[in-house]
Amino acid sequence: MKLRNARLSVLAFVALLTGACVSHPEYAAGVACGTSVVSVSDDFEGARRGTCTVLGPAHFKLDIVPENSPPINDSPWFAFRLSPQQAARVRIKLRYTDGHHRYVPKISYDRIYWQPIDEQSITTSLFRRGASFELNLDERPVYVTAQELILPSDYSLWCTNLERFGTAQCSGLGYSGNRQKIFRIDVNPAERDTLLIVGRQHPPEVSGAFAFFAFADTLFAKTELAQQFREQFRIIAIPMLNPDGVIAGHWRHNPGGVDLNRDWGPFTQPETRLIHDLLQQLDDNGTKIRFFLDFHSTKRNVFYTQNEEFPTDPPGMMNDWLEQSAERIEDYAFENDARAVSEQANSKNYMYKRYGIPTATYEVGDETNRLATQKAAVVFAEELMRLLLGQDYAQ
Ligand SMILES: [Zn+2]
Repeated sequence: MKLRNARLSVLAFVALLTGACVSHPEYAAGVACGTSVVSVSDDFEGARRGTCTVLGPAHFKLDIVPENSPPINDSPWFAFRLSPQQAARVRIKLRYTDGHHRYVPKISYDRIYWQPIDEQSITTSLFRRGASFELNLDERPVYVTAQELILPSDYSLWCTNLERFGTAQCSGLGYSGNRQKIFRIDVNPAERDTLLIVGRQHPPEVSGAFAFFAFADTLFAKTELAQQFREQFRIIAIPMLNPDGVIAGHWRHNPGGVDLNRDWGPFTQPETRLIHDLLQQLDDNGTKIRFFLDFHSTKRNVFYTQNEEFPTDPPGMMNDWLEQSAERIEDYAFENDARAVSEQANSKNYMYKRYGIPTATYEVGDETNRLATQKAAVVFAEELMRLLLGQDYAQ
């Protein structure tokens, strides 16, 4: 009798499970997921929706899965579009399979203007393995993303505008593994002394891209300072080294499953090999890279630099730059996190070891105000130009 009861309860449990599956349809990534009220799609560049489970007419669970199995950096990128059939209040439950809630969702109707949702309206689960929020939708489709979508087409547009402006030429450094163009802006290539800046090795690091554009625009501006700088220095800017990762909505890697900012030195990937070839070419031509910056995002505004055990040529320049900038910046608190140069094969370490110059990872907080980020980047660019112009680079 006891055994029979046990069997019955097992059967009841199985029936419950089966019932649960039937009542909550699941759709794999890339497959349309929706109800008569609203659909959740991932059919655009930069999208990442994952498996979509319909929990109710306007209630969905999305499994936000990284591009490669762990270990992978905890930057759970998501991006999807909600297309309502009617005005509705939609509830979204994000489940991070290999990460923790990090990004405040941003919404946009036109992919130009973005608005973070009210942080108070987000409920995170125990240990932040999930987050849920509700959105009031009218009949317009809306994009919901971890950060603003800044795609290869935006970089292309930026390049076109730069060329029209007339102070910089945009060309290609080469092509990514998936044959996407990697843009390169090269100003005054005959000059020996060079400033090299790089961006977007890590796809979700959009706040760093806001800084990159403002910084680069300041270098390419028609101000007296920038014009003088461009007469005496060569500038090489590579705004997006990982276009494939950006298009695929990756958390971290390129399609080869590699963190590009751990591949400076090994240079095993198509994108980093382009860097290898560029540096080789510059060295062969007698070009001198004098300063190097790599734009990223993390949880706060910080510059990762070398500590005093690792002297640079010229000495103390990084500190001078950040201190002079700080005097002019009001609404952008940041740290100079000077550390020992480690074995990690990131760009900052590699460039320091190869050239002995000041190098930094320029990290912008994920949710730092975008306007403050841009205003600070203008000051950082101006102060760097002043400082570089003031150096006596004899040989
Ligand atoms: Zn990064």
